Amino acid sequence: MTSSSNAVPPVLIIGAGTIGLSIGWELARTGTPVQIFDRDAPGRGATWKAGGMLTPDAELQFEESELYRLNHESLDRWPAFVETLERETGIDLGFRTEGTLTVAPDEDSAAAMERVYKFQKKVGADVERLTGAEAREHEPFLAPHVAGAVYTDDAQVNNRALVRALVAGINNYEGSIHSQTPVEAVDPDADAPAVVTAAGDRIEGQQVIVAAGAWSRQIEGLDEAVRPPVRPVRGQILELESRPTFDLRHVVRGPDAYLVPKADGRVLVGATSEEKGFEKAVTAGGLYNLLEGALELVPGLRELTVRRSDVGLRPGTRDNAPLLGPSGAPGVLYATGHYRHGILLTPVTAQEIATLVRTGTVSEWLEAFLPARFADAPAAV
Ligand SMILES: Cc1cc2nc3c(=O)[nH]c(=O)nc-3n(C[C@H](O)[C@H](O)[C@H](O)COP(=O)(O)OP(=O)(O)OC[C@H]3O[C@@H](n4cnc5c(N)ncnc54)[C@H](O)[C@@H]3O)c2cc1C
Repeated sequence: MTSSSNAVPPVLIIGAGTIGLSIGWELARTGTPVQIFDRDAPGRGATWKAGGMLTPDAELQFEESELYRLNHESLDRWPAFVETLERETGIDLGFRTEGTLTVAPDEDSAAAMERVYKFQKKVGADVERLTGAEAREHEPFLAPHVAGAVYTDDAQVNNRALVRALVAGINNYEGSIHSQTPVEAVDPDADAPAVVTAAGDRIEGQQVIVAAGAWSRQIEGLDEAVRPPVRPVRGQILELESRPTFDLRHVVRGPDAYLVPKADGRVLVGATSEEKGFEKAVTAGGLYNLLEGALELVPGLRELTVRRSDVGLRPGTRDNAPLLGPSGAPGVLYATGHYRHGILLTPVTAQEIATLVRTGTVSEWLEAFLPARFADAPAAV
């Protein structure tokens, strides 16, 4: 592989997950040449294993208000993002808008749900409190003992179709994706930063973007002080096959599991959240907990066929928020650390990072998520 001979040097992106691909597509469609490197096939990291929920209100946590604002902005950008990507590629993204029911299976969890609901109301989230009977009217597949629910008007997408569409979208323009091409190191430089592949090729570009998900910290060539503080958080997930008589419409979330009915007939049951380093085992205990938590919410799940179990590594950070913007090393940007929300945050990340590459300006959306917020913190992730 040799350096590009284009008059305009390419933007080099490490990682072809939803983040690297969507930034690549956004840049390519506005005339910036891009080269994307992945050590695997595109999108086979956390992006492939995700539930595809776009649910900022339902997943709102205490003390994550800046992240909530970004999550919501991204949800607002999803319809136009889907419309453009589907139009350019002809690929159906399985975008669904029936919304989410966060369900309390018993009185104890109803009390906990009530506390979160009050917080959600306080910060202005669009949430609707339902009794158990009202929740079952919305979603007849809920268990009869359900004590109450909160409805949120949000969305979901087929994350695997998203990968296929982004790859097709990039191929329509001046973008190339190098699969099976691990990047070993970056070589920071203000004018001509470069990536060095495991095969020893050195490719120079105008900017390097590290979008390598949970593995972002493993890339060599960056000073310890600026290496991205990202760690893997394991998520196990089950894929079931729906039946014509099992027409679950909503995303259903409970205290121990969620169910995501996909437009293509799959029903996903997720997900564990485990600090196990890079170990990618599917465990008996993990699957047991998911099934127990899911059956408590929707007993009809019992009859569905199990297609597969899977595991993904979320790119976690210390404050659960992504690292977006200048890395502190010349010519190198970060777009990583999206943890539980990387699919949701795809449009806002792609558009704001592409704007930063083109203009050199950090937009108001990126300010709270600049990597520099960790600059004085201890190196451990
Ligand atoms: C079980 C589970 C369920 C989830 N559900 C949701 C959900 O419902 N909604 C939501 O918004 N988010 C969800 N997430 C989180 C979401 O999947 C991630 O935040 C998102 O996929 C991160 O995207 P990414 O592109 O940063 O990382 P990844 O998709 O992991 O992509 C990183 C890519 O970098 C490549 N790479 C790594 N190192 C190198 C290297 N040295 N050289 C070349 N390539 C390299 C990898 O091969 C990989 O393809 C879920 C995650 C899991 C695990």
